[in-house]
Amino acid sequence: MHLLKDLFVAAAVLTPSLSFAHEGQHPGSLISGFGHVLTEPDHLAMVAGLAALIGGAVMLRRAISKRKKAVTKQAARTQE
Ligand SMILES: [Zn+2]
Repeated sequence: MHLLKDLFVAAAVLTPSLSFAHEGQHPGSLISGFGHVLTEPDHLAMVAGLAALIGGAVMLRRAISKRKKAVTKQAARTQE
């Protein structure tokens, strides 16, 4: 894991132009920053990916919780 982190850092240091999402300036204020994120396709893709990841994690957590409850309920019935 440490080697992987070192490789990512080395890649970022050796190819700084790839670190930037797109050319141009980023706005300084908070409100225009939100507008920028919602109008640039690369930032939108990042937001969509993050939303999908969080949504998937929430759905997985709910599924695991539901399954645990079912198993607990069945174990209680078995003991009766
Ligand atoms: Zn940007």
